[in-house]
Amino acid sequence: MKAKIRLYVDHALAAGQSIPLTKEQAHYLFGVMRLAEGAFVALFNGRDGEYIARVAEAGKRRGILVCEAQSKPLQMPPDVWLCFAPIKKARTDFIVEKAAEMGAARICPMQTEFTNSERIRRDRLQAHAVEAAEQCGGTYVPEVAEIERFGRMLDNWPDDRHILFCDEALVGDKLDFESAAKGGKWAIFIGPEGGFSDAERTRLGAHPLARSISLGPRILRADTAAVAALTLWQKQCGDWQ
Ligand code: SAM
Repeated sequence: MKAKIRLYVDHALAAGQSIPLTKEQAHYLFGVMRLAEGAFVALFNGRDGEYIARVAEAGKRRGILVCEAQSKPLQMPPDVWLCFAPIKKARTDFIVEKAAEMGAARICPMQTEFTNSERIRRDRLQAHAVEAAEQCGGTYVPEVAEIERFGRMLDNWPDDRHILFCDEALVGDKLDFESAAKGGKWAIFIGPEGGFSDAERTRLGAHPLARSISLGPRILRADTAAVAALTLWQKQCGDWQ
């Protein structure tokens, strides 16, 4: 049983389970990808792992798949959130896509003092996370949270989650990642193109769960910084070890 196409479905998965397709999914599988009855598709829903399913009915606007067997168990990512200030649309899309591919457990847009874009389409960003999981072979889809103000986010901060504060003011300092990040739950904080304000830097600096780090000798764009910080964290504390 070989499946070239992976599809996220919002439906429980188990051997023998029938999965009705949405109009869009039927169009994609049978109109665009030209699958016919009897073909195989890999399905995941973020909860039950991955299943190989057979096309039982293929119509223009509808279709039914039947799960045959589980092909991968659910693989949860390590417990790291990416908290970032949205930037331009395409670069924000990039951050969400890369965070999902790289194994962030949750993606939290935050409104900082120097954040330019106040509005984001959460549903659009969530769809990017789903697409990234479909193409990278992941069985988990990180939730994209509603955008939240920086101050409010810290007011309600969980008392067991460490913060890895990527502080551009430390540019050029030695990257002391090993002593900054150890086990437990984490969140990476990345500022907007204008950086963190002095007040935000002071607040994070005083936070008992926050550790400030430098990301090397050059100032990185926010999207590059998000990928760099996730890479370092995954290597040191996550599932790339
Ligand atoms: N406008 C700021 C400046 O010129 O100092 C730069 C902000 S940078 C484009 C966006 C975010 O990426 C920063 O807020 C920080 O979180 C992260 N970042 C970029 N380069 C960094 C570095 N060398 N060390 C630590 N964080 C960095």
